[in-house]
Amino acid sequence: LAACDSGKSNVLKIGTNAEFPPFEYIGDDGNPDGFDIALMKAIGEQMGVEIQIENMEFKSLIGAIESGNIQGIIAAMTVDDERKKSVNFSDGYYEAHQMVLVRKDSDITKAEDLNGKKIAVQEGTTGDFVASGDPDWEYILGTSLQNTEVSRMKKGLDAVIELKNGRVDAVIIDSNPAQVFAKENADDIKIVEGIQSETETYAIAVTKEDEDLLNKINAALKTLKENGKYDEILKQYIEQ
Ligand code: GLN
Repeated sequence: LAACDSGKSNVLKIGTNAEFPPFEYIGDDGNPDGFDIALMKAIGEQMGVEIQIENMEFKSLIGAIESGNIQGIIAAMTVDDERKKSVNFSDGYYEAHQMVLVRKDSDITKAEDLNGKKIAVQEGTTGDFVASGDPDWEYILGTSLQNTEVSRMKKGLDAVIELKNGRVDAVIIDSNPAQVFAKENADDIKIVEGIQSETETYAIAVTKEDEDLLNKINAALKTLKENGKYDEILKQYIEQ
């Protein structure tokens, strides 16, 4: 472990953005909680290291690995070729997709209806890439969105507030948070059921400096999938 060099051999600093329920959010005790946090702690236990969670903005996470402030990221982060230039990704631990949220009276029913519309997203996320018409992410909705006006917010919830207040026409965000936000704001917003998305894979990002750490995380993840602990955490945090 790179952490050994600093003398703190038993601490692994892992970054997250605790604004993305049910994967990470601030729990009742004021500390980060959620599926990812529980999974990472179980991985740490398996590895015999203590996990120290560092909460920061989503778009700062990769830079924090590059500058050595953290050794890994668990943040519902999708495996992506561009990000692979800066970090290594573990084996996948969850399959998600994108969902489109609109106000209840919206006439948006298919992906093409989003062309020319105002869309709020969380900055630097795959939802941002899709909304911005990034050709690498065209496969997600099966179309490259044209002439959209994208509002990039720090949190997913801020994007939802933009939508509720009528400042944008839609929000594009990962499926599980979309369901949480839709449920919590059911009087005002809904998921566009007619828009189907391809899947993307969440993985733990690890510093490129430490191949050994990547291998250990993958080994621990494999054990947790085999011994039922992964399923237990899934059941605890994610409604099936
Ligand atoms: N899965 C999306 C991404 O990796 C969103 C992650 C997030 O907002 N925490 O970009």
